[in-house]
Amino acid sequence: MAPVTVITGGGRGIGAATARRLAHAGHHLALGYRRDHAAAEAVVAELHAIGVRAVAVPADTRDPDRVAALFDAAEEFGPLTGLVNNAGVTSPIGPLTELRLDDLREVVDVNLVGYVLCAQQAARRMTAGGGIVNISSVAATLGGPGEYVHYAAVKGGTDALTVGLAKELAPRGIRVNAVAPGIIRTDIHALSGQPDRPERAAGRIPLGRPGEPDEVAAAIAWLIGPDASYTSGAVLRVGGAL
Ligand code: NAP
Repeated sequence: MAPVTVITGGGRGIGAATARRLAHAGHHLALGYRRDHAAAEAVVAELHAIGVRAVAVPADTRDPDRVAALFDAAEEFGPLTGLVNNAGVTSPIGPLTELRLDDLREVVDVNLVGYVLCAQQAARRMTAGGGIVNISSVAATLGGPGEYVHYAAVKGGTDALTVGLAKELAPRGIRVNAVAPGIIRTDIHALSGQPDRPERAAGRIPLGRPGEPDEVAAAIAWLIGPDASYTSGAVLRVGGAL
């Protein structure tokens, strides 16, 4: 039976690149998104052309009912086997003293509460084992000083969620891992007020350039796939040695 995987934030960036990779590996896919319906539908059209079943579902991961609807849509394709917990946001770059309460709450709600709600749904529905990959960040260990300490703190939470859930779900044959990207060329930097951040940061990345979404997707696809059958509780850094 073909694997069936939910990708949150599958319409753009790392999530969309992961959808393409997993479709080539034969996964049927349910892609969640928040606002950008056209982007998500365009990715679904590409997935159909690859030959898998796919659907785009408006599913703000802060809303438990929409999260449940996303997983219901995936189960139309067969028993759920995978979750890529990817939908994430940043906020304007700056020192912690300037952080606005609304921005802090949004970062916590999307990047932590949303991840937990999705992991809960996945864990309840994966009755015959499966794989979860949480998208963390190198910020979890670097700390993001002067830029986004609150985001780094939440991504540290992603790593703890990964380790704990890996142990809790191992007896049920569910593996849980994380990928921690460095600075990747996606639209997320525009949200933080610095669309050209990847290029400007290149000088401090040991490999000398920002990463591409597909380079992160490759790691996600490996961790969720059968070649990682004994890998669980790992946080895999994909950051050009950052
Ligand atoms: P992106 O290009 O901005 O795409 C974000 C995706 O998440 C979009 O599909 C967006 O939906 C969706 N999304 C945002 N908030 C959502 C919500 N509340 N509910 C449901 N979907 C939501 O971001 P990205 O760079 O690919 O980031 C993906 C993940 O990688 C995030 O967890 C991020 O923290 C992490 N990461 C990124 C980098 C980087 O440099 N890019 C580095 C480290 C970690 P819409 O299209 O509808 O807006």
